[in-house]
Amino acid sequence: MNAESVIRAGNPARSVEIKVTYRSLSAHEMAGDRVVSLLSAGPAASVVARGSMSDSRQFWSARAGMVEGVTQNITTLAGGVNAPERGELEGSSPQADADDEQRYQAAVSKDPRFDGVFFIAVTSTGIYCRPSCPAITPKRQNMRFYRSAAAAQEAGFRACKRCRPDASPGSPEWNIRADVVGRAMRLIADGVVDRDGVDGLASRLGYEQRQVRRLVTAELGAGPLAIARAQRAQTARILTETTVLPLSEIAFAAGFASIRQFNATIHEVFAVTPTQLREARGRRAPQTRRLLPLPSGDPAAPGLIRLKLAYRAPIDGERMLGFLAARAIPGVEEVRDGQYRRTIQLPNGTGILSLGPLRPGPVMRRPGPGYVDCELQLEDLRDLTAAVQRCRRLLDLDADPESVTGYLSADPVLGPLAQANPGRRSPGHVDGSELALRAVLGQQVSVAAARRLGARLVAGYGKPLSRPDGSLTHCFPAAETLAAADPAVLPMPRSRALALTGLGAALASGELSLDPGAERDHAESVLLALPGIGPWTASYIRMRALSDPDAFLPADVGVLHALAHLGALPVETGPTETGPSARTRAAKAAGALAENWRPWRSYAVHHLWAYLEEKDQR
Ligand SMILES: [Zn+2]
Repeated sequence: MNAESVIRAGNPARSVEIKVTYRSLSAHEMAGDRVVSLLSAGPAASVVARGSMSDSRQFWSARAGMVEGVTQNITTLAGGVNAPERGELEGSSPQADADDEQRYQAAVSKDPRFDGVFFIAVTSTGIYCRPSCPAITPKRQNMRFYRSAAAAQEAGFRACKRCRPDASPGSPEWNIRADVVGRAMRLIADGVVDRDGVDGLASRLGYEQRQVRRLVTAELGAGPLAIARAQRAQTARILTETTVLPLSEIAFAAGFASIRQFNATIHEVFAVTPTQLREARGRRAPQTRRLLPLPSGDPAAPGLIRLKLAYRAPIDGERMLGFLAARAIPGVEEVRDGQYRRTIQLPNGTGILSLGPLRPGPVMRRPGPGYVDCELQLEDLRDLTAAVQRCRRLLDLDADPESVTGYLSADPVLGPLAQANPGRRSPGHVDGSELALRAVLGQQVSVAAARRLGARLVAGYGKPLSRPDGSLTHCFPAAETLAAADPAVLPMPRSRALALTGLGAALASGELSLDPGAERDHAESVLLALPGIGPWTASYIRMRALSDPDAFLPADVGVLHALAHLGALPVETGPTETGPSARTRAAKAAGALAENWRPWRSYAVHHLWAYLEEKDQR
């Protein structure tokens, strides 16, 4: 599918004009309570829609709507379009026919961007695939479409051995959406259902179990338990194929309650027994076996797992690595040979992760699916699911860079930056609490000074690893440890020390949650009520700890300098003007400009920071 989109967004009414060119696909726009009018549709190659969006964060959903169906009626949208077993409704209404026709077209064009967004099952073979699977013979009448692998599994289909649909990148939709289904999907991906059940999931979301089940099932075609089970099957497959662990240990590590359940699920999903899965690995991928005789230097290291993390290309690995390297705290993180390595505190134990090499290269620039090498050393293998998900959030691997770049390219200020750097990502973090505490450390000091301060804090308050690895010796101090620290002895001004201990206390008591399912608006308001946490810190935490693609830092010095250099700020607010009022005026102007960059303002911030750094290097 040759997808191309040109979007012009007007300010301040957030009016948008969208031109989406898809081969014989039509489009719809939806946004919260409003649906953008569809001005032209049908078999033509492009669709132009104009209208206003009450919340332009829904933009990605709207694009995903390309394969979700056309609707101009919000009641249909709420009631029927995302109904369970969407594919099964085929033929039941003209609307359903239209949805499936578009999905079919997406499958025919084998666009890898839709991998993970929906799944295709083929009734004649009993197999389900990712949309880009090369093995699918497009026989329209045999195809069924599902929003989740779990829904396909529940309908009796088995995972394709060729395209491995369960290893698709996650749908970018879940990181964008602030509603309960988006939050639930982020928590399920982090393994919350495996650890605490649907009960634990519901209580974190602040909903009844029954409501969560209903809402998730309505959109995904399967409930939280089934989605978690599909994820466990995938985790079990990774462990079976990439480690020499006994299958009984794998069942437990993947989150199954019993060996019997493990055997039954593997058979149901992959149509083989666990033993056959392990044997098949040897024949298919000898290089996997070569990797097995264990790790870097320490043959007794427990729980070493090597895997590949899928992403939608392109990805700017070099910039990501540079960003992480500049902030790496000695003892906790290091960058070596193009690899980013760090310690991590997980629900059941500690771990060390290695990502990369994240070098620039033809593979990372080429559109289509790609993989980042990932090595995990886990104290407790039950943490595998959470560890993988946290790596994905750190590197922003579920993003759809074509959507982001397509959107920002049309902007007069950011357009050239976006076009020159189509793989730019917005780095998240492996631990929301750590990121927040570090954001306070970084207040009013340079990135390098914050790093030195972080190292002193780690040496004084960090948890030593039972098995240090080279320069990686500690986990970053836990929130409760810093909450209990004496502000008078912390190596920083008293007001900042109080901000740090206050934040630690809020995190430790549960007053503030920065886990993947946290409600972003609520978390931000709790943060702003804490002493010493201002709008910059709260927005930065929102951007990285909560992986919000649409956070903005209007008063950030780097953002303002970059905009001034780009000639995007009014002259009277420029850097030659001094004093707080000039700064306030500049921040206001930047905030107004940024309205045009919704729902991707976090990416805009990274474009501006990178621009400033590259300009300084020239
Ligand atoms: Zn396939």
